[in-house]
Amino acid sequence: MRGRNRYKGRFYREPIRKRLPISYEKKFLKEKIASFFRPRSTKIAVASVGGICVLACVLVFFLAPLWSVPASAPQKSSEETSSQHEIVPTAATPEPTPVTDAKIIVLDAGHGGVQPGCVAGEILEKNITLEVTLQLESKLEEMGFSVVLTRDSDEDIELDERADIANRAEAECFVSLHCNWYEEDSSVSGLECYYFQAEESKRLAALIAESTDSESIHTRDIKEENFQVLRETKMPATLIEMGFMTNPEELELLTSDDYQEKLVSAIANGIQDMMEGAQPSMEEQE
Ligand SMILES: [Zn+2]
Repeated sequence: MRGRNRYKGRFYREPIRKRLPISYEKKFLKEKIASFFRPRSTKIAVASVGGICVLACVLVFFLAPLWSVPASAPQKSSEETSSQHEIVPTAATPEPTPVTDAKIIVLDAGHGGVQPGCVAGEILEKNITLEVTLQLESKLEEMGFSVVLTRDSDEDIELDERADIANRAEAECFVSLHCNWYEEDSSVSGLECYYFQAEESKRLAALIAESTDSESIHTRDIKEENFQVLRETKMPATLIEMGFMTNPEELELLTSDDYQEKLVSAIANGIQDMMEGAQPSMEEQE
């Protein structure tokens, strides 16, 4: 081991000696490079370039904020600045107020899905009630009400769910639309508004009946009936039997666009009267 070390020691000593002249050469080279930078003109040039750089940095540091202020100021005032700025304006947000102020009306299209209601040949009650309900929805929305529907398509909704929808919506009033059926006498006709117990429900029924009557729609007296949707709703509620499907003339009217439009207008006006606190004048009819 030692012999090898000694040998190795000798072996290594040689290249070290050989490197010495190389380092001298390097020193010589360094000398030359240093002499290249030695002239005064080069030193001055280097110093002046450095000085300019430092000055530029200082100028940028101090002037950058001055430039950025006038650049951002017109952006805030200009109206054409797009999406990024439109999200921000929390200070000017009076827009949602009319939406929240809109009174909620729940419309309930009777039957649906596997429950056709009254059936007169190919005419199904569930289709008439949905047609009128959808038109009434548009009409009431035009008047500024917020409308919630228990159904907007041909689907079967349980009666308790219909009342729940109205209760959850905290609606101002609930209007259920149906068509009547009286097999014993096909001559019987006319629209009927039902209410249950509550005075406010009676007022709603009476105001709608008064409105349909004034629109020359054959209107019968308002009636009290323990219908589930009237019993379980917590707001003024009425159920409108729009006409008798057992009466051939009225059946034809119920499916006609003109008569449906007339019904929609009259019912909407009655609801509006209710919302404006009107009192019915024919309340005592019976
Ligand atoms: Zn019905």
